[in-house]
Amino acid sequence: MSQFQTTKSQEIFAAAQRLMPGGVSSPVRAFKSVGGQPIVFDRVQGAYAWDVDGNQYIDYVGSWGPAICGHAHPEVISALKAALDKGTSFGAPCVLENVLAELVIAAVSSIEMVRFVNSGTEACMSVLRLMRAFTGRDKVIKFEGCYHGHADMFLVKAGSGVATLGLPDSPGVPKNVTSNTLTAPYNDLEAVKTLFAENPDQIAGVILEPVVGNSGFIPPDAGFLEGLRVLTQENGALLVFDEVMTGFRIAYGGAQEKFGIKPDLTTLGKVIGGGLPVGAYGGRADIMAMVAPAGPMYQAGTLSGNPLAMTAGIKTLELLQKPGTYDYLDRITKTLIQGLLDIAKETGHAACGGSISAMFGFFFTAGPVHNYEDAKKSDLAKFSRFHRGMLERGIYLAPSQFEAGFTSLAHTEADIEKTLAVAKEVMQSL
Ligand SMILES: *Cc1c(COP(=O)(O)O)cnc(C)c1O
Repeated sequence: MSQFQTTKSQEIFAAAQRLMPGGVSSPVRAFKSVGGQPIVFDRVQGAYAWDVDGNQYIDYVGSWGPAICGHAHPEVISALKAALDKGTSFGAPCVLENVLAELVIAAVSSIEMVRFVNSGTEACMSVLRLMRAFTGRDKVIKFEGCYHGHADMFLVKAGSGVATLGLPDSPGVPKNVTSNTLTAPYNDLEAVKTLFAENPDQIAGVILEPVVGNSGFIPPDAGFLEGLRVLTQENGALLVFDEVMTGFRIAYGGAQEKFGIKPDLTTLGKVIGGGLPVGAYGGRADIMAMVAPAGPMYQAGTLSGNPLAMTAGIKTLELLQKPGTYDYLDRITKTLIQGLLDIAKETGHAACGGSISAMFGFFFTAGPVHNYEDAKKSDLAKFSRFHRGMLERGIYLAPSQFEAGFTSLAHTEADIEKTLAVAKEVMQSL
């Protein structure tokens, strides 16, 4: 291994910690869960990132999802440069909103109308208000280990003993705000049935990540999504897919295309902004008609639908429409995850994992992993050493066992091969 030197990263991060809480603008970037110093990026291009000390990495984080075409794709950048000359924000209707809306409606089968916002968090908090406004009910079911942004009512971790009590996950979140957030273990239809039975005519809907990425990669068991579709319909509740991560990533039409299930509402983010801040929510036209100014449910945004963000989104979706996109992503990602699992086996480490298209994950536990409780059985100390070993050898993985990994169209087979060669070396040393 060549010398891994991070002097500049350390200096910059030390200064950042005096200026910003924890030195970051979003917590996971501080590497707390894997330990060790985070590296400070200087630039990104294609499948690669370079830090301020000049180290190059193959990047499997992809800015947490947006970079599915590869970082700084030349066509996205040149479209942005052209848009920039016309101004950065209009605060007025802009034809680019129509263009992106048409692309989204054509892509995502359940979306008949869409509203643009600036982040996945905003999309999820708005969709929750909409679920309640439309049904006239206050309670909502979410799943343990699913993340729907940082709005108060979603910050509910459901420890085993208090699984359905809706206790807040963060100080500053009042209990009465989360008391309407009911939780169930992921992949547990019986638990959802029980919640519906215990709260008749009170549940506005069920929201979930159709494939979980925020407690590591956890796919839905056969029948789980179908079961939720039936249960919500039977109980007059809405089914909401949070596709902020899976949208345009596990298929062009998201999880709803992949699994053939039609939710009532969908949230989007990450890929849809092509690296700029965009989120969206949409769904059935009769529900979306509730949203102001068409209807009474208030929701607004100074920078929403701004021309730069729309441009990056449009160009990114156009690039993804090229034939073969998702076959390629699926193939390289399968090679990666199968390779990692084979290496773990050869080197005597219990591991399990999987992938769907450009989203993957693996755990240091024999598995199987069906929910957050299972995921927590992973050997986190081992993951931390693995993460550090990979980082020092030029592979940038998400700095937490509980995050999915991402590939992009810019990742080559050679990148995957190199990653596996490095992983072998690291796993042998664990
Ligand atoms: C990232 C994410 C969010 C939050 O999006 P932000 O843009 O970070 O606010 C919400 N839901 C899911 C499933 C996500 O992965």
